[in-house]
Amino acid sequence: MANIRNKIIFLGTGGGGSMVSLQTYSTAGFWVNLEGVDLYFDPGPSAVYKIRQAGLNPDNLKGIFISHKHLDHTGDLNALIEAVHYQFSNKGWNYKDYQVFCPPDVVPYIIENHQKMPGKIVKVRPEQFYRLEHLKIMTTKKLLEKPCYHGNLEQYGYEVRGKQFSFAYVPETFYQSGLFKKLESDILVLNAMAPTNDYPEQLVKIVKEISPQLVILRHWIKRAADYGIKKYAHDLGKATGVKVIAVKDGEVFDFKTASILP
Ligand SMILES: [Zn+2]
Repeated sequence: MANIRNKIIFLGTGGGGSMVSLQTYSTAGFWVNLEGVDLYFDPGPSAVYKIRQAGLNPDNLKGIFISHKHLDHTGDLNALIEAVHYQFSNKGWNYKDYQVFCPPDVVPYIIENHQKMPGKIVKVRPEQFYRLEHLKIMTTKKLLEKPCYHGNLEQYGYEVRGKQFSFAYVPETFYQSGLFKKLESDILVLNAMAPTNDYPEQLVKIVKEISPQLVILRHWIKRAADYGIKKYAHDLGKATGVKVIAVKDGEVFDFKTASILP
């Protein structure tokens, strides 16, 4: 990939157990270059393969971010840690200049040996600030993927602020009043859930509370794909008055123009 500066590269836009199996939309997660710093979010199954296929170099990553422990978000976490560790372009392995940010209950999912590979594994806490290079990272409050987990799942979204650009990433979650009050970014990468029952309403409330300029919708499960991802995005846009894009595998968002590259 030619110039990835200030871009989000959506290697994977799929989610859920259905897409872990089908891979109609990849569960690879996404790569962000914000003001020269390379970050990776939610490396689900096929992340390393998709990174290499796109011509990106895992050696460059400074941060790997996990929203929650489910397989569609962590399946390739160990593989990605190992890929960064090997540093084929930076003269050999045992590279330490990168960090993993994850909820505490993700740590047991990292193989013991791999826990020693990153410079640091940051067990994130709600509404905390972290530094990575010149970037300021803020976690959201503890989210609620589905009410059936009764708060047992540790799940967070992230806001990444640079000098010029910023964005927020909110994984699939149910809404609660005030959950996102502190998010300030105009660009919101939002994970979709099922297109029926009370799921879409959750997304409407989330978008209304954050009130961004643009929502980039992803994390397509089979039911959302069957419903039609464009229709899904259109519904959400109509209900919120905010511009919503249904992003597909391989598409690239450019912070400078605040749009998906043609
Ligand atoms: Zn998911």
